Amino acid sequence: KNYHVVLEENRRLYNEVQELKGNIRVYCRIRPFLQGQNSRQTTIEYTGENGELVVANPFKQGKDTHRLFKFNKVFGQAATQEEVFLDTRPLIRSILDGYNVCIFAYGQTGSGKTYTMSGPSITSKEDWGVNYRALNDLFHLTQIRQNTVMYEVGVQMVEIYNEQYKIFLNLHTLGIWNTALPNGLAVPDASMHCVRSTEDVLELMKIGLMNRTVGATALNERSSRSHCVLSVHVRGVDVETDSVLRGSLHLVDLAGSERVDRSEATGERLKEAQHINKSLSALGDVIFALAQKNPHVPYRNSKLTQVLQSSLGGQAKTLMFVQVNPDGDSYAETVSTLKFAERVSGVELGAAKSNK
Ligand code: ADP
Repeated sequence: KNYHVVLEENRRLYNEVQELKGNIRVYCRIRPFLQGQNSRQTTIEYTGENGELVVANPFKQGKDTHRLFKFNKVFGQAATQEEVFLDTRPLIRSILDGYNVCIFAYGQTGSGKTYTMSGPSITSKEDWGVNYRALNDLFHLTQIRQNTVMYEVGVQMVEIYNEQYKIFLNLHTLGIWNTALPNGLAVPDASMHCVRSTEDVLELMKIGLMNRTVGATALNERSSRSHCVLSVHVRGVDVETDSVLRGSLHLVDLAGSERVDRSEATGERLKEAQHINKSLSALGDVIFALAQKNPHVPYRNSKLTQVLQSSLGGQAKTLMFVQVNPDGDSYAETVSTLKFAERVSGVELGAAKSNK
């Protein structure tokens, strides 16, 4: 297998684009095969330390079967939740210095979006995904810094389904934001809770998730078709100077990106699919416009981009996890997912040559 010539050519291009790109980062994470799937054909031909990924169609021979992608980082199938978090932590911590940060998971249903963002269960700390680890780390840091900066933390969970958003949980540390969170979404008093630790948040999240919908199966079904946004807002007051800083973190588990066959979907399913398509392309357009430094950024085209506006663009930092299911049967969806990621990262490399 000789990808090296093409990789060399593309590295130069990549580095040039990287300079222009600003604050958008893309990490790719490959899901392992699940139990009982070990003999399945894989689409993953090569992953490199430097973020290179080659995917191939295992059911096709000959030319044009390989594609090369390059991201800021690729996490292979053995990557642990801890490793993924450690690479994300500096970005998350920057909200305590007043930055706005947005982290997404993008990919087809079953590719590991929820696993990366939340983890398979909240009861075991080892399994925790980025969001609980982030909260834990932030609470820990606010305590360490409490003699210099007094922080307040507000947490909100919002679901966007069929272009409607529903706030299903508002959490709050003592006092100050008693009317509205900085993103302008009103906070009804009844759903305000005081949080001081990750355990408080977890406890209340369980209630929030129950508010979201009834029944576990229904939740799984619905969560693949809705975007779920967990927002953390911090407000810090410098103890000596009284100056105030604000930062925010949006952690987004996006709806499944798979294309729904229009000829098969009808009624509710078709409507859902159209809303998902619309909002994911609106998100792609916004990030693409930002990566290209276009003067006009089309935030108004979907609820998702409206909700996230303050944490996309400007000084905000964006990280996208592109989730990949390695199964051969998913090849077409995988390529389409990776092309989306390539487009938003502003780096398009094209086909990889192979001497196989
Ligand atoms: P999505 O949110 O994209 O629909 P899930 O996160 O629900 O996908 O993942 C689908 C299945 O794969 C779940 O059973 C999940 O526990 C498992 N899974 C996903 N990523 C990993 C991983 N990195 N390691 C182990 N199991 C994983």
